[in-house]
Amino acid sequence: MKIYIGESKLHGKGIFAKKDIKKGDIVFIIKGEKVNFLIHNKKQAKIAGFNWIGIRKNTWINPINHGLYINHSCEPNCAIKGRVTAAAIRDIKKNEEITFDYSLNEADIFWYIKCYCGSKNCRKTIRSIQFLHPKKFSGHESHIPKDFRKIYKKFNAFKFKNQKKLQTEWVNFIKKDFNV
Ligand SMILES: [Zn+2]
Repeated sequence: MKIYIGESKLHGKGIFAKKDIKKGDIVFIIKGEKVNFLIHNKKQAKIAGFNWIGIRKNTWINPINHGLYINHSCEPNCAIKGRVTAAAIRDIKKNEEITFDYSLNEADIFWYIKCYCGSKNCRKTIRSIQFLHPKKFSGHESHIPKDFRKIYKKFNAFKFKNQKKLQTEWVNFIKKDFNV
């Protein structure tokens, strides 16, 4: 195991590198139960688990083990490769905290968190992938799972005249998977 759980400076507990990790290396595999869930309004967004990790539209993993403790940073050192593999996107030093950019694999447009990661380019409010700035998206494109890249291209907020329209079209799109 390349990681351990410890006290985070970002938030609560976090996961840390037990030894130096090279860019591209697998850091851990996200384990847990798959959850299919429709988040078409704020109420549903509140019911969704705050630890869930997105794997495609309407589907998350409710993580066990390390996936529970991964914290967000606006300058992450890890990202999801494929669906459940956390891989290093740059070299990571021993005892450095392992972080994701939560926006890269979250599509719930009702979700947001405040960020205090302290990085130079901290976005302060973290929202789903649809709201990622185009520059940030292109910079991270190779670290974004395929399904989320597709979502971004079709539903990014910079394409829509207003957020209400984005919300309506997104909700219609995700509802198709459910009989509602
Ligand atoms: Zn931040």
